[in-house]
Amino acid sequence: MSNVDFTDVRLSQQSIAGQTVPVALVPRIRTQNYFAQVPSAFKSLWKGMKLTMWYFLHPSTIVTKQYPENRATLKFPERYRANLQLNQDDNGYYMCNGCKACERACPNASIIVKTRKGAVTGKNELDAYVWRMDSCTFCNACVMACPSDALRMGHEFECAVYDRRLLIYTLNRHAGPTGDQVAKLDEETRKQVVLEKRGPYDGPVPLAGEAYPNIRPIVLPGQATEQEDKV
Ligand code: SF4
Ligand code: SF4
Repeated sequence: MSNVDFTDVRLSQQSIAGQTVPVALVPRIRTQNYFAQVPSAFKSLWKGMKLTMWYFLHPSTIVTKQYPENRATLKFPERYRANLQLNQDDNGYYMCNGCKACERACPNASIIVKTRKGAVTGKNELDAYVWRMDSCTFCNACVMACPSDALRMGHEFECAVYDRRLLIYTLNRHAGPTGDQVAKLDEETRKQVVLEKRGPYDGPVPLAGEAYPNIRPIVLPGQATEQEDKV
């Protein structure tokens, strides 16, 4: 509740820096007598103590988790969004066919879907699914835009790093066709399908078509930069 009675506010013309301007005159806030405030101080103290005592007696209703002591038993609400993940079918094939609907839906250009023409299927297939956690706002628009149910928001929240380049992920562990595409092949042709391995990060990633000026390649175990390759 405001201590100011706005019906008492008056406008007055005053000269400021050589100009006459209207100034609102607000009456001074009436302060209560110090001792008159003691009962209300005790009342609010009692309210706080009552709430504390209620949670002390009903620990199961406490929302705040005692992290990290409870790491092993930590439970998240189903819709909690911590990191973007690709769905796989029962046979381990990614369900993403590289249609790029999620890339177009992302308001932050946090997704880059690299595709290729499948050597065996002849169809468009996923090469690398790059997700930039450093610019993602976890809005879920990509998940909702996907027509193939190929994306989900996971609960892996311990993603802190000392170098923001490490917040750029290649989400797929292999490149290749979807399970549906493979299912349409005959038995013999199916044997020719090769799922190529993909690492967690594959070099500097352009942001909205531009090279990100202060991100240079980072070398992860098992990877080599272009410069090293040329030596
Ligand atoms: S959650 Fe939102 S910001 Fe993050 S990648 Fe998906 S669409 Fe982009
Ligand atoms: S995740 Fe879904 S929307 Fe994005 S490219 Fe793959 S199939 Fe298309």
